[in-house]
Amino acid sequence: MHNTVSRIIHQLYDKYRGCSDGKLADYIPELTRANPDWFGISVATADGHFYSIGDAEQAFTIQSISKAFTFGMVLDDLGVNTVEKRIGVEPSGEAFNSISLDPISGRPYNPMINAGAIAATGLVRGDDLDDRFEKIRHCFSRYAGRDLDVDEEVYRSESETGFRNRAIANLLRNFEMLDDPVDEAVEVYFKQCSILVTCRDLSLMAASLANSGVNPVTGERVLKPDNVERVLSVMSTCGMYDYSGEWIFTVGLPAKSGVGGGVVGVLPGQLGVAVFSPLLDAKGNSVRGVQTFTELSRLFNLHLFNSPAVAGQAIRRVYKLSEVGSHRQRVKAHHEAIRQYGHSVTIVEMQGDFFFSAMEHFVRVQSAHTAETVTFVLDLRRVNLTDSATENVLLAVIKELNADNRQLIVIDPANILEHARYDTEIYDVLFFDDIDIALEHCEEILIQAHVEAPMIKGLVPFHEFEIFNDMTSQELSLIEGLLGMEGFPAGCKMIEQGSDPESIYLLTKGSVSIIYNSSNNSDDQLHQRIAAFGPGVSFGELAVVDCSKRTADVWADEDVTCYTLSLDNLRMLESSSSAIHAKIIRNILIINIDRLRRTNQELGSLKS
Ligand code: GLN
Repeated sequence: MHNTVSRIIHQLYDKYRGCSDGKLADYIPELTRANPDWFGISVATADGHFYSIGDAEQAFTIQSISKAFTFGMVLDDLGVNTVEKRIGVEPSGEAFNSISLDPISGRPYNPMINAGAIAATGLVRGDDLDDRFEKIRHCFSRYAGRDLDVDEEVYRSESETGFRNRAIANLLRNFEMLDDPVDEAVEVYFKQCSILVTCRDLSLMAASLANSGVNPVTGERVLKPDNVERVLSVMSTCGMYDYSGEWIFTVGLPAKSGVGGGVVGVLPGQLGVAVFSPLLDAKGNSVRGVQTFTELSRLFNLHLFNSPAVAGQAIRRVYKLSEVGSHRQRVKAHHEAIRQYGHSVTIVEMQGDFFFSAMEHFVRVQSAHTAETVTFVLDLRRVNLTDSATENVLLAVIKELNADNRQLIVIDPANILEHARYDTEIYDVLFFDDIDIALEHCEEILIQAHVEAPMIKGLVPFHEFEIFNDMTSQELSLIEGLLGMEGFPAGCKMIEQGSDPESIYLLTKGSVSIIYNSSNNSDDQLHQRIAAFGPGVSFGELAVVDCSKRTADVWADEDVTCYTLSLDNLRMLESSSSAIHAKIIRNILIINIDRLRRTNQELGSLKS
């Protein structure tokens, strides 16, 4: 797919394509067979989308890039404590093949130079060379999302000439940083370096690190999140050998290079990037790799330490139940109670990621509103991510609120929070998927607490409906004769969107939901609950007045009983008792003006 991003990357590719600086690695003779013109760039997003350009499908040996992944593998298998006994995490500032061991302990400085990498490979357990290597190959294949092969020629070539690495391994053995058999460990290391990858593979491997250790294409976890953090740390400080300082200064990404010509970089949470070009500089890093990364980072502002302050936008809005209520239409007295007492419910709508600073913003709002608030509603519908540390802070918030006789309601339809930790038996915290249902719940509690005759239990008599306000008793008895009565079982669709109206409904028992369907024919219809009505409320009157089609479905949420006033009877009233008809129309107007005012007020407060 070509889009603006791929075109920008392409321009970068064109810019460095002609550069022939650097030389092929020749200390492994087989590597001199590489074509110096090869040049590929691949960017994989943390959600698995690729931008691949040039020789992105050309296979080459992974070489030192393997070090990062083997280090991660032994961290996952053995734990950080065991691994740290044998491999440090200090940059050596020396070349990749330097004999950098701590002078006293003999521990290699870090896992990104050969000494530390051979020690890491030595920690991969297995029955023999093949078994140990197979584990590594399998692990890398899971990162790449495909079965990776080995370049046997390159492996043999390095094995025939790798005396320096053998010397390093023997030194490690001397300091007990490597177990016997030493030769086997070195062979596994050579073979691991000879695994064949493409630029595209490497970008996906890097994207798996960017995606907290989950391969974004296969969905498989390839590394524990804590170890992703550790691997990226050493890549940041040591990944480019004695160029690591300059690299993090200018490019600002955890990265790893290999003498095969590959370089990978990771922008946590966003991208994995790989560049392949086999001409190397004096430090053993790909010349075009360094150039491309430097410019790419500048073009897209990828430097890790150039992070914008996101927390300022973490709070989308704060409002009170008195300003914005649920979609439920209620009798007037109930609406008034909500308006009067709704300031005790404070709704905080969050957006973006819910990490420490977003949480800290929430806590600030919460303290500012604590005095008048009984229930806080934390609306996480627009939040995608949180972490366990932030969840723990939220638990502390819940405890403090509860100790103060206050409650938290969380709207978390995507299960961002791990609910198990917020035991609703112990803590006064409620979870809802739907903000409207949660607001309704808060409203019911206010109504119960503040309205004299709280919930209407039996049938609401017809003359109590607002639509029949201001009628004389004669008029009422005339109306009574015209009303029908209909029952609907729970779950039944009472009115169909698009149908012709027949009656006005006066809900005397039960509750209904008004569902709006955004499209009538396609499979991906959007069903939105735009209103709900309880006893004492009339509905369906608008379509009756102007004889237009029904604009939404109406569903019975529970067993429902309604009085009905048919369109025919309404027309009959118009001609025979125009005074009654005029009153009804006027009442309908008043009811709807009331609704409109509430809606306007809500819109006003939401936009402020
Ligand atoms: N196999 C190579 C070696 O050990 C890897 C070195 C590298 O890529 N920098 O020499």
